[in-house]
Amino acid sequence: MLSRNKQLLNVQKNMQNCTQCPLATCGRTNVVHGEGDINPDFFLIGEAPGAAEEIEGRPFVGRSGQLLRAILLKLLPPETTYYISNTVKCRPPKNRNPTRKEKTICTMLGIFKEIEIVNPRIIITVGAVALSTVLPSAPPLLKAREIMHLYKGFPLIPALHPAYCLRFPSKKKELEQDILFALKSLQEMKSE
Ligand code: SF4
Repeated sequence: MLSRNKQLLNVQKNMQNCTQCPLATCGRTNVVHGEGDINPDFFLIGEAPGAAEEIEGRPFVGRSGQLLRAILLKLLPPETTYYISNTVKCRPPKNRNPTRKEKTICTMLGIFKEIEIVNPRIIITVGAVALSTVLPSAPPLLKAREIMHLYKGFPLIPALHPAYCLRFPSKKKELEQDILFALKSLQEMKSE
């Protein structure tokens, strides 16, 4: 049995020069793989890389990613571990939403394998696209918040997208509530 690290490296290797979906031919300069702790409390799943992510080749490093990372730093106890990735690994042109076809192909190659490998305690989907991609049966995001859902036996908690909070700064408190709800759920799981 390969270590988690080696399994993740294999997933990344398979996607490094991937041409399986149309996003491979939209001017891609970098495939943006997941990163973080490989035995995490939380697995945060975003939608797709943006411009900053594509340049750096890392997830959640643009303005909205920085906001999310700052909230995690502010609210989570330092021992909390997380892994962070996206439903598709290549940037959609002009930051459009990934298509159903792109998501279907990429999730099978990437995020669904990453979830199985790192085996997180809780999945946090970040934004409506990530929620509907990972859990198509879930209600719309605003109705799904502050409820624990299940994806293949993994607890799944939906959160607002930080880009939405940048557009509407009063919503930042609600994103913080989502992260605090996930933290409370984690603490309850650990105390059982
Ligand atoms: S988005 Fe995913 S499936 Fe599409 S080309 Fe990139 S790595 Fe391959």
